[in-house]
Amino acid sequence: MSTINDLWNSLCKLAHPSLQEDYDNSGLIIGDRQETVTGVLVSFDVNEAVVDEAIAKHCNVIIAHHPVLFRPLKQITSDTPNGRLLLKAIRHNIALVAMHTNLDNHLQGVNYELGRRIGLSNLSILSQIEGKLRKLATFVPQSHADEVRSALFEAGAGNIGQYDSCSFNTSGTGTFKAGLQANPFVGERDKIHFEPEVRIEVVYPQWIEKQIVEVMKKVHPYEEVAYDIYQLQNEIPVFGAGMIGNFDTPMTENSFLSHLKAVLGIPVLKHTSLSGKMISRVAICGGSGSFLIRKASASGADAFVTADVKYHDFFDTPSRLLVVDAGHYETEQFTVQLLAYYLTEKFPNFAVLISEVNTNPVYYT
Ligand SMILES: [Zn+2]
Repeated sequence: MSTINDLWNSLCKLAHPSLQEDYDNSGLIIGDRQETVTGVLVSFDVNEAVVDEAIAKHCNVIIAHHPVLFRPLKQITSDTPNGRLLLKAIRHNIALVAMHTNLDNHLQGVNYELGRRIGLSNLSILSQIEGKLRKLATFVPQSHADEVRSALFEAGAGNIGQYDSCSFNTSGTGTFKAGLQANPFVGERDKIHFEPEVRIEVVYPQWIEKQIVEVMKKVHPYEEVAYDIYQLQNEIPVFGAGMIGNFDTPMTENSFLSHLKAVLGIPVLKHTSLSGKMISRVAICGGSGSFLIRKASASGADAFVTADVKYHDFFDTPSRLLVVDAGHYETEQFTVQLLAYYLTEKFPNFAVLISEVNTNPVYYT
């Protein structure tokens, strides 16, 4: 049996909520963490029809890409569609979870799935996230340096891009005088001691800080562990907005646009003027990605596939870049499969179903 808390902890491992944008509301929005999960319905958005589907299929959790609550509410009443669905979800004990921009900003999230379906290879983050990296420096007696370093790596520290077990180590001398009530690992009470130590430095994303510090204190031999924590401004290569990748075989602009229509199941595309060049390097951002147009151009993309592009964004696009508005729903639709696949692997003890409700509010005629 798994609780909603178990499910939520597993989703945090997939894409931690700390990765979400400031305006977002990803997370467990409604729910009792202690309840046992009877089944999960994965949906793109949540509307009343999706809640009805969850009730009919005995799923007490709905996981959606878009958060059902985005702005603060002053009333939850049956007067509005959102109020009705929230009341219905609460009455039927259905938890609502959103995996939104935290999944957008993940190396294996929304854009990875979009890029993979389009057929791009060597995908990397287009605009890397900044300011979420921390550094720990701890001072360890030489005899215990290997043990402490290994424990830090095991707890998730020391990952930089495609490298793990990254650390910097400097030897030096630590001094301390133990108080009369202390129980020193080395040295004597009330007498200054000089100990050969190693300063071990490792980086980690800020959301695993608690576990990193706990593990360090557990394996460090000193009664009072000396350590420093630094906030870094560095980018993290594996997290951020949009992605960029390449086609193994370049294609003409027209075949690229036809290919997009077929893969995304969209009948029409909005795009900037065609220039006759071949499309080889493609930037992508599922959903509203206009803010990345300049970054896509600067990264050498021939085309940028996104959605919700305004008239003036088309107008201001650098001429060498083909910008394609391929629909918000269409560019993010594969997120549902990504979530369902992940949870099916992790939780064989309950059903993970994909919603049959098409929540796309946009029609093409
Ligand atoms: Zn979206």
